[in-house]
Amino acid sequence: MKTVSQFNFSGHRAVIRVDFNVPLDKQTFAVTDDNRLRAALPTINKIINEGGAVVLMSHLGRPKTGPEDKYSLRHVVQPLSVLLAKPVQFVNDCIGDVAVNAAKNLKAGEILLVENLRFHPEEEKGDELFAQELAKLGDVYVNDAFGTAHRAHASTTIIAKYFDAAHKMFGFLMAAEVAAGTKVLHHHEKPFTAIIGGAKVTDKIMILERLLEKADNIIIGGGMAYTFFKAMGGNIGSSLCEADKLDTAKELLEKAKTKGVQILLPVDSILADKFDNAAQIQSGDSNNIPDGWMGLDIGEKAIQQFTDVIAASKTILWNGPMGVFEMENFSKGTITIAKAIAAATKSGAYSLVGGGDSVAAVNKFHLADEVSYVSTGGGAMLEFFEGKVLPGVAAIEA
Ligand code: AMP
Repeated sequence: MKTVSQFNFSGHRAVIRVDFNVPLDKQTFAVTDDNRLRAALPTINKIINEGGAVVLMSHLGRPKTGPEDKYSLRHVVQPLSVLLAKPVQFVNDCIGDVAVNAAKNLKAGEILLVENLRFHPEEEKGDELFAQELAKLGDVYVNDAFGTAHRAHASTTIIAKYFDAAHKMFGFLMAAEVAAGTKVLHHHEKPFTAIIGGAKVTDKIMILERLLEKADNIIIGGGMAYTFFKAMGGNIGSSLCEADKLDTAKELLEKAKTKGVQILLPVDSILADKFDNAAQIQSGDSNNIPDGWMGLDIGEKAIQQFTDVIAASKTILWNGPMGVFEMENFSKGTITIAKAIAAATKSGAYSLVGGGDSVAAVNKFHLADEVSYVSTGGGAMLEFFEGKVLPGVAAIEA
């Protein structure tokens, strides 16, 4: 894997695709979570410390019709310069004379951030001319935006064409993400347990199919588990159910049997009479839920069974919460599973947490430092585990 660690940036100007798609306060536009800015620091610091100059480009939000102040990357300048302890220059376009001249005037150790790439619709279209314009911003291209590696956009993929093999590479974050995913999917120690949760079976079919080829155990929790109980003929009350996925669920269970993969569903659940933290609560079997009740978290027996399997695992992948963890009364399953993963990691297992809501859960429960790797790229990591080639990765490796 070609990374920034093998290149000396002295005298070079690197154009880095970062993922600065950070949440902003609606009124003040202050950055409310700077994790994505922090994640880019190692790559930026390596380059400027070696005497290189840095041009940063990113998208922010989903602007529809061109420039909009609420999506301007200028809101990122101040917090970024605090984190880097250095001034960050800014230009209000990412292409054209203003941007190219500002880039060319950078001295060693200086940093320029250009305006939101998605203010130009050509970015998401993967437009070649636009990518060629972006390529003028540097003599080395670095991709450190794993979160958009599954998109063939101008700045994530097409731009790579305009640099030779010696002058395009992965940043530290991107390299770490790819290495973590590769380790789990291709070089894992067994037993390998995948824990898949969240709301919808639809979103997770492809990853489940792929994991049937790789994992020893697949734990299924969260709202998606009830479609499986229904498919097996159970009563699930008013729990989440995707009626059009009953056959798929059945097929997945059958395939698992043929392949000798153990699928674990939550035998019991925490049931509620409405989707509300203040609902009436009881526990009960997941395959016999009374009418008017819904499963919003895994129950005690399931927690015990899942915890035992996790404790005996050497590789663990976690994607998706076990219940409605945002509501305190239905968060115990997700917290306990997160803690079980942390404990297994302490005993020597390798654990990767990837996918928006399970990442939010480990952060919420302050366990991010107790697992082996927390992925920053929800959609990209999911597609990686689905076995898809990520265009942003392929473009550098080409
Ligand atoms: P996903 O984005 O598909 O990973 O789903 C995450 C969402 O699923 C979270 O917002 C959870 O609150 C929700 N969720 C998890 N378990 C359940 C459940 N049993 N019923 C309804 N929603 C759930």
